[in-house]
Amino acid sequence: MNTTDIHEIVVLGAGYTGMIATASLAHRTRKLPVRITLVNPSDRFTERLRMHQIATGRELADHRIPALLAGTGVEFHRAAATSVDPEAQLVTLDSGTTLRYDTLVYALGSTTDTSAVPGADHHAWTLNDPRSAHRLAGRLAEIAAGGGTVTVCGGGLTGIEAATEIAESFPELTVTMISAGEIGAMMGEKARAHLNAALDRLGIVRRTGLRATKVLPDAVELDNGELVDSDLTLWTTGVRVSPWLPTPESPPTQRDSSSRTRRCARCRTRTSTPSATRRRSPWAGAASMAPARAAYPPPPTRPWRSPGNCAESRCGRSGSGTSISRSAWAARTRWSSSPTPTTPRSGGI
Ligand SMILES: Cc1cc2nc3c(=O)[nH]c(=O)nc-3n(C[C@H](O)[C@H](O)[C@H](O)COP(=O)(O)OP(=O)(O)OC[C@H]3O[C@@H](n4cnc5c(N)ncnc54)[C@H](O)[C@@H]3O)c2cc1C
Repeated sequence: MNTTDIHEIVVLGAGYTGMIATASLAHRTRKLPVRITLVNPSDRFTERLRMHQIATGRELADHRIPALLAGTGVEFHRAAATSVDPEAQLVTLDSGTTLRYDTLVYALGSTTDTSAVPGADHHAWTLNDPRSAHRLAGRLAEIAAGGGTVTVCGGGLTGIEAATEIAESFPELTVTMISAGEIGAMMGEKARAHLNAALDRLGIVRRTGLRATKVLPDAVELDNGELVDSDLTLWTTGVRVSPWLPTPESPPTQRDSSSRTRRCARCRTRTSTPSATRRRSPWAGAASMAPARAAYPPPPTRPWRSPGNCAESRCGRSGSGTSISRSAWAARTRWSSSPTPTTPRSGGI
């Protein structure tokens, strides 16, 4: 077979979305002349929803991406994508490699949105990635030695998980949660009662009905003018899509207003793909694949879902009860079917 007959699929990002897409595509196209290449800066699978556990000093299971993909035929590139050229259908990597694609899966995830409140960018910590979580673990241990104060801004699921994990791991710390709405507002009455009992047990102070208006190096300013002492402020009020990769024809931010992107009204996560890849059918131009295409119809084009990777009606952060629990997620995925070993935990919520 001529190499030009091969349909090239490049998947950017090996988070939950990228891994699910890659594994599913590999399975569905296994009898087709398709090559799948997965690109991610680390060869270790990042369990992003466990970042608060790293932040409190736990060791997570070490899932290596090449091992998870063994036997699937997927090629793995350890690199970060630096730009996309949708016209030429090329992705440039920081390793110097350029990959040609017929279909691009853009799964670069999200980052904590620290842009809305002055000072949050500079003075607040986030649980964005393992590196920031490890640094946070070091800082928490330092301030715990002096019985310091931690302020968690945000009363959603990430804020709740982080605050409870910190309070449980560092009982010397005074942990305060600040939330414009009720903490755990997305939960049902019984679940919220259980949550509040756990927060009481852990001694977590709740300041609700208040917004943080400024983050200072050692305090958080509230909209009633009050200053809450804070040796460490953790920002968990929401996420924004990772910065778009630059393209030759448009600066990254221009895509923000694209009609091809949709933003979830609840968690503000945006769902999109670069316009050129969306315009073009993944199978367009693959004339030589016609017989195979008839025998093995292309996979449905609906977007892949991952836990918490907002797909609007099933927004993982919506509180509609659709956030995938860890056990459901583990049961669903081949690569995390064995429980992640963590240090024992005495309680929790
Ligand atoms: C502390 C915390 C707790 C959470 N708890 C839950 C929970 O209990 N339940 C739930 O459903 N959700 C939870 N979430 C949300 C969930 O983690 C995210 O929704 C999910 O990780 C999104 O998956 P993703 O694959 O889209 O993005 P990500 O998991 O962020 O993956 C993106 C991938 O892209 C890679 N990447 C980035 N830039 C590049 C580049 N230029 N080139 C190549 N690769 C790149 C990254 O390294 C990463 O591997 C939690 C989030 C946090 C932070």
